[in-house]
Amino acid sequence: MSDPTPPVEGRKQARADRLVTGRVLRLDAKVCHVDVDGEVRLCATRGKLFENLGTTKNPVTVGDWVDVDPTGDPQSIEAVHPRRNQLSRIASAHDPREQVLFANVDEMFVVASVAKPGFSSNRTDRILAACRHNEIPVTLILNKIDLDKQGAVAELARSYELAGIPLLLTSATQEKASRDLANEDGLEALRARLIGRTSAFYGASGVGKSTLLNALEPGLLLKVGKISKYWTAGKHTTSHSEMHRLALGGAQENAPGWVIDTPGIRVFRLFGVTQQRLRDLFPEFARFQARCRFPNCSHDHEPDCAVYDALEAGKVAPTRFASYLEMLDELRGAPEEPSEPSTPEPD
Ligand code: GDP
Ligand code: ZN
Repeated sequence: MSDPTPPVEGRKQARADRLVTGRVLRLDAKVCHVDVDGEVRLCATRGKLFENLGTTKNPVTVGDWVDVDPTGDPQSIEAVHPRRNQLSRIASAHDPREQVLFANVDEMFVVASVAKPGFSSNRTDRILAACRHNEIPVTLILNKIDLDKQGAVAELARSYELAGIPLLLTSATQEKASRDLANEDGLEALRARLIGRTSAFYGASGVGKSTLLNALEPGLLLKVGKISKYWTAGKHTTSHSEMHRLALGGAQENAPGWVIDTPGIRVFRLFGVTQQRLRDLFPEFARFQARCRFPNCSHDHEPDCAVYDALEAGKVAPTRFASYLEMLDELRGAPEEPSEPSTPEPD
């Protein structure tokens, strides 16, 4: 009754039939942790996926949906599904390739603290710009608001309000003390936002990201995958992103939500951003920059710069503008520290 199939086609078909779909949770040196229907499989990545990578370093990243061949030993990732979005950076000061930190997220939460450690505009604004460049919706979480003594929260809230960046205020150690601007519980608001979605978290070390995630779901960061006999070395690194399935006490089985914990990268260098592109990554400039004398104004030294005027008028936060200039200098290949006094502006 069945038509005879050519042998090669037949073999391909047989392999396609046994593939299962999973989602990448974590990548170690050689082993990839893939969640297949709630079960962690340790997989190798097929060599062919490393071909034709161009300027990209890693073919597979956390959050990827992948086809797994479950019959091999080890099981293997055969293909990566097309991505909805991804966040990339320049791999390192010595490696200019693109490193994809994660893919397929609904929202990125950038966690920063008001004090201990103090708020770093530069660090925060870099990651916010990277999200905008990659069209990833982003919310800034200001944590440790219980430590705010000098009204820093109000000041920061204003800066990011001018930039149109959504803000949540939290105190991870004091559940009920946390209030967002609408005077609602910041942690509760956050918890509600995670259900049925994929959310990434980024934060410098010490800002309270782990405390926050564990307050949202106790034990979230403690879960580890089962180790198969194949991977006897069992080496694990914590320097990469890692995704966790959320339970959130009672969320539906089919839409539990996923949380990606990213490492607290010291210097986040934007990948694929040109000098011209950078100004569009600061949303608060948009209202003004059409009125600059030069259409391609960099807002740095040009006369009749409407963004500079907005800064002077208090409509753009000085810290945000400083972050922009610092990133611009970097893209121009200038040294990190300002080395020469600024020259007088032409009139
Ligand atoms: P991570 O490196 O970002 O994961 O930071 P941790 O979660 O390990 O927190 C660093 C320190 O900050 C710990 O001692 C926490 O107890 C403390 N911490 C975290 N969140 C808050 C907060 O909202 N308020 C205060 N006062 N301390 C906090
Ligand atoms: Zn300008």
